[in-house]
Amino acid sequence: MKKIWKCGLIGMLVFGLLTGCGSSPKNAAENGESQDAAGQKLFVCTSFYPMYDFAKKIGGDQIRLVNLVPSGTEPHDWEPSPQDLANLEKADVFIYNGSGMEPWAEKILGALQNEKLAVVEASQGINLLEGNHTRTEEEVEDETPYDPHVWLSPMKAKAEMKAIKEAIVQADPENKAMYEANYQTYAAKFDALDQEFKDTLSPLPNKNIIVAHQAFGYLCADYGLKQVAIEGLSADAEPDPARMAEIIDFAKANSVKVIFFEELVSPKVAESIASAIGAKTAVLNPLEGLNDQQLQAGSDYLSVMRENLQALKTALQ
Ligand SMILES: [Zn+2]
Repeated sequence: MKKIWKCGLIGMLVFGLLTGCGSSPKNAAENGESQDAAGQKLFVCTSFYPMYDFAKKIGGDQIRLVNLVPSGTEPHDWEPSPQDLANLEKADVFIYNGSGMEPWAEKILGALQNEKLAVVEASQGINLLEGNHTRTEEEVEDETPYDPHVWLSPMKAKAEMKAIKEAIVQADPENKAMYEANYQTYAAKFDALDQEFKDTLSPLPNKNIIVAHQAFGYLCADYGLKQVAIEGLSADAEPDPARMAEIIDFAKANSVKVIFFEELVSPKVAESIASAIGAKTAVLNPLEGLNDQQLQAGSDYLSVMRENLQALKTALQ
């Protein structure tokens, strides 16, 4: 009894804090309503951040959305937990990028008992580039020969968002008009982003970027850039001297001023190369996951891609 009372009190306190936090009575009512309706909402699971963000843009508050790879986690080496499998057993729709990005997804999908689950491989039907994205020699063997990082092209990201929209509409046709309207709104924003990349990058004199891992093939293909990846080096390994020398030579020959690194892996190798040639380092985010701080600040695909564009502009001037 005591315990129940305690939980009830904490619940009331939490509810009080949530509703007291600058929300009007109308918002409080909406919160209550959405909690009651949670059981009836379309339950969508996504594999990692870009899939989550695109699904959120389509479904908004109309869907219950769970992203499997936790914030701040690099998704290439991630494996699902029993809790993730439990979510997938209850979900209506599962969205993953595919093309070798989530090797675990194909393995577990066959083992699930969930007969109602609709599965979306968002990169399906998109023209894929060849090229392996893995960092370590051991991983190369079980990867597909294709580059899975399609979402780093705004136009290909739009195509993935469209595939996600179509699956959500099919699973919840009653709310079709809203999902279609959301898609149109964001498709226009993705078009505008693509135009910004074109307008900003095409006049810049330099076209070569040195990046942590080979994630930017589609972005480079769209905007006439060339990536050289510090690959074959695991994130926390000591840099391989031969590869270091190769990259340093390339950087010198092409007057590369900035060595890019990623927030979810150590910048050590990028820093060593930068200091060897007197270059700077900067973040170029492959959007494989955002950290809690970025999520709380309201960052999303569009804002991070604009940060990437600014970083490219500074580096390629
Ligand atoms: Zn990657």
